[in-house]
Amino acid sequence: MESQLTPFLQTLAQASQAVLLVDYDGTLAPFHADRNQAYPYPGVLLLLQEIVRNRRTRVIVVSGREAGDILPLLNIHPRPEVWGIHGLQRLRTNGSMEMPRLDDRTLNGLSDADRWLGYLQLRSVSEFKAGSIAVHWRGLSASDAEDIRSSVLVGWRPIAENSGLDLLNFDGGVEIRPSEADKGVAVRAFLGEINPGTPVAYLGDDSTDESAFQAMQGRGLTVLVRPAWRETAAQLWLQPPDELRDFLGLWLKACAEQDAFNRGAHAPTISRTARYP
Ligand SMILES: [Mg+2]
Repeated sequence: MESQLTPFLQTLAQASQAVLLVDYDGTLAPFHADRNQAYPYPGVLLLLQEIVRNRRTRVIVVSGREAGDILPLLNIHPRPEVWGIHGLQRLRTNGSMEMPRLDDRTLNGLSDADRWLGYLQLRSVSEFKAGSIAVHWRGLSASDAEDIRSSVLVGWRPIAENSGLDLLNFDGGVEIRPSEADKGVAVRAFLGEINPGTPVAYLGDDSTDESAFQAMQGRGLTVLVRPAWRETAAQLWLQPPDELRDFLGLWLKACAEQDAFNRGAHAPTISRTARYP
């Protein structure tokens, strides 16, 4: 871990701006059977709050959820930027929401996917978003989960094929969504928008974060945040919450050192002014 982290932190300490891209569920917050109760790890929340308040880092939460669902769970001020539906939505810090218009083929596919869930009587365990539908089975036994998964896919596979939608397996469910609702697509586009010298890191836990790790290759630090290691494209692995807290603490320290350095550099100017009014 040290070998990649130390040079990154040195770059961070010397940069005027940095970007922290971070997934929400499973990364900042432990999983909860009731998704509306999935609050962040307490120590992690405090550090993220300080990093946002420091203003040197543009913090962007990248979630599979609707962007608007994140802010009530992540009680941070000033509020960070949130990308929802795997990057399809961008909720800016000024409250404005950006999302591409979905074409009729996509919308018809999603409405067919919804009808199939109605037929299976699975709407109550489903999450309906502006551009995708996810079925959740967290907390169920492995065999019940597999029953739901296979019956959903019997209908969703042909619907996805006919309407150009993608099927996405994630930790605790399956989702049908347009192919542009992908964290890798969002991260790749974002990296094209920012200054190439800006230090950037991406933290995530799920298989849905792997495409973002791949999009970051050669460009920034990638971190798998997960209690147990798994095969990943990420460079580092952190076990939450303790190692994640350490990481965010080091991030904050690097930004704070930069502030102290700037104050020191300005000091002679101030004293010169004082001497020669
Ligand atoms: Mg996650």
